[in-house]
Amino acid sequence: MAIERVIDTSTHADNDEEKIVEITLRPNNFNEYIGQERLKTNLKLAITAAKKRNEPMDHVLLYGPPGLGKTTMAGIIAYEMNANLRVTSGPAIEKAGDLASILTNLADGDVLFIDEIHRLRRAVEEILYSAMEDFKLDIVIGKGPAARSVRLDLPRFTVIGATTRTGSLAAPLRDRFGHQYRLEYYQDHEIRQIIERAAKILGSEINSDAANLLSGRSRLTPRIANRLLKRVRDYADVNGDGIIDYPTATSALKMLEIDELGLDPADRNMLQLMLDNYDDRPVGLTTIAALTGDEASTIEDFYEPYLMQLGLIERTPRGRRITAKARHHLHKKP
Ligand code: ADP
Repeated sequence: MAIERVIDTSTHADNDEEKIVEITLRPNNFNEYIGQERLKTNLKLAITAAKKRNEPMDHVLLYGPPGLGKTTMAGIIAYEMNANLRVTSGPAIEKAGDLASILTNLADGDVLFIDEIHRLRRAVEEILYSAMEDFKLDIVIGKGPAARSVRLDLPRFTVIGATTRTGSLAAPLRDRFGHQYRLEYYQDHEIRQIIERAAKILGSEINSDAANLLSGRSRLTPRIANRLLKRVRDYADVNGDGIIDYPTATSALKMLEIDELGLDPADRNMLQLMLDNYDDRPVGLTTIAALTGDEASTIEDFYEPYLMQLGLIERTPRGRRITAKARHHLHKKP
């Protein structure tokens, strides 16, 4: 099934328990959504203007690394517009007919969230062009010489597309989004606020120095912050009185092998392999993928953005290269 009615089923969490926590912790409105001030200011303005004109909002493209709050923001936009939210994703829409049935089932003003929009198939993408531009659906009925093309009117709706890579989006599709925003990595103090908010919702007590410690290791990413908090909470429940203080958080992070930069064993392994095999020479993405045994897209979407943000690897015209900072970091490790 290519579409879900409510946002709650769309999450990148790995298992059911994490899914439930992610849904519980998801901010529902602008006030609860911490950080991304520029994005919020722009969107609030656009929403107010659209409501004043009594029109749906122009299409919105949100891009940036995973876990920064794109899905969450789509839910907030729908909420603030008093609109229904329909959720689907690029890989879930297999055929042009799937998209046609999603579009013909929309109501006036609905928000259609398409996650991983860069993974839409070309034939599906082409249907979306005229749907987004003119709110028309061009479909071909029949086959061979008897085939004829029919143009259907669609309700006025808003597409919110999310992608980790705008570069992979075809230009004609990208151009149809009136609003295009990049989500930035969060500031340390914002991540701390997110951790404190999540702890409150989960009914956990966390000391401020423990919250500081966790925020420094959360890769500047809300999803990771929430996930770490949950792991540390488990540790505190089992090994202590449930209160997350500095020593408990330190021991839990040690057990999870999260280092002071927030790197986990997989990140360190990748850097170490690059160092051992290529030293400071550039290496291509597919070679790195072959070394670590991951998909190239996993490296590009999950590992690399944060490592680059930290200045541990850099992109050169001939591939990725680890930096002096990364060498220094690895040498500190036993
Ligand atoms: P993305 O779609 O970019 O991968 P999500 O919107 O699924 O990211 O966010 C992951 C989780 O992080 C959410 O469940 C939510 O709890 C939390 N989160 C994301 N952005 C924020 C924010 N600005 N403030 C508070 N929590 C956030």
